[in-house]
Amino acid sequence: MYYLSAIKANSHLNVFLEVYEAEALQRAQEIDRKIAGGTQGRLAGMVVGLKDVISHQDHGLQAGSRILEGFRAQFNATAVERLLAEDAIVIGRQNCDEFGMGSSNENSAFGPVRNGADPSRVPGGSSGGSAVAVQTGMCLASLGSDTGGSVRQPAAFCGLVGLKPTYSRVSRWGLIAYASSFDTIGIIARSVPDAALLLEVIAGKDDYDSTVSQSPVPAYSRQLRLDEKPRIAYIPETIQSAGLSEEIRQTILRNISSLKEDGHRVDAVVFPLLDFILPAYYILTTAEASSNLARYDGVRYGYRSTPAGSLESMYKSTRSYAFGEEVKRRIMLGTFVLSADYYDAYYTKAQKVRRLIKEKTDNIFAQYDFLILPTAPTTAFRLGEHTEDPLKMYLADIYSVQANVAGIPAISIPAGKDQNGLPIGLQIMANRFEEARLLAFAHYLMQHQ
Ligand code: GLN
Repeated sequence: MYYLSAIKANSHLNVFLEVYEAEALQRAQEIDRKIAGGTQGRLAGMVVGLKDVISHQDHGLQAGSRILEGFRAQFNATAVERLLAEDAIVIGRQNCDEFGMGSSNENSAFGPVRNGADPSRVPGGSSGGSAVAVQTGMCLASLGSDTGGSVRQPAAFCGLVGLKPTYSRVSRWGLIAYASSFDTIGIIARSVPDAALLLEVIAGKDDYDSTVSQSPVPAYSRQLRLDEKPRIAYIPETIQSAGLSEEIRQTILRNISSLKEDGHRVDAVVFPLLDFILPAYYILTTAEASSNLARYDGVRYGYRSTPAGSLESMYKSTRSYAFGEEVKRRIMLGTFVLSADYYDAYYTKAQKVRRLIKEKTDNIFAQYDFLILPTAPTTAFRLGEHTEDPLKMYLADIYSVQANVAGIPAISIPAGKDQNGLPIGLQIMANRFEEARLLAFAHYLMQHQ
């Protein structure tokens, strides 16, 4: 199979943690028979990969962490169940930042993933393996997770389409939790029609996730024509920001002017809360992570440190050894912001800021259909460039987290390359549950660039 040879040829990129070669070949044969009999599903033969945070029954699952060493998923994530029911082929499990925490895929217990466009550079994160797999033809599409940009930013760094749906559009059943009120399963693909079809299959109500939306799932893949001229907004500060690379700025400005030339209405809008989005995101996600990751205690899952003295020392040595630096930093930060003396000063305040950000974002979408902005402030940076300074790394998410804080859908599409030949991403956000129009607009933009 073509994909298997691409996996072998690119093993130096460190993309797959496991490849299900025999199983994939056998399934391909079964699906061939179905196709011959005309009984195949909507994704017949589509080869997909799964980020190592999405449960695939009886297969390894580690969230890129030592703490889940040897763990095997006991059930399928709902999204995976639906892919399989439509005859997709799952080819393997993909490397990622530990528990989805990172923007460069350098926080994996399995070592970094390298960008296929330039192996001295990062692929973005945390779904870095999922992006490089699609970039280098190891699979047609991947399921990743996006808590603050983890599908869109690697898609941008690798020249792909990355879709983060509305919060609650896709069931989180079987997705390893990082920050539950932000987490979404997302899609990395080569084209908007592929992403639309996959979303159509995996979205929708699910008895296993009480937070998932009950609203019907449109046939996204058949609604890719832009019906009327949309009203488009942009926030000038996002484009003027000193931290934004000049080439990305020019790319976004060029897109805005060509939309205007084509007769679209594109307006500058005010959004006074930009500086507060990233701090609110990091306070709330670390708080949620410290609670979600409390379950990895050496008793219930995966790795346990031995020999153990008291129960407490076993917990301590297990967690100290098996969690990586970044995960430990976030557990400590999260525990701090939730501690009795600081709860109101940090956690409660960040919740209030989140509410304001949601309201101000809603105000934009009361008047506009789409918000255009960069996906990330730079193109793919070099391995090791930001590892010494976590704050610099956090800034890689400056443009992507708004969608997660507000719970709205967002997509990153390829928008050319910089002078080093590195892909540039353009991001579009839309109102809650407006994926159909978002995909149609993204499709239009990709064809008109
Ligand atoms: N890079 C962001 C973080 O580290 C986003 C991660 C994600 O979306 N999973 O939190």
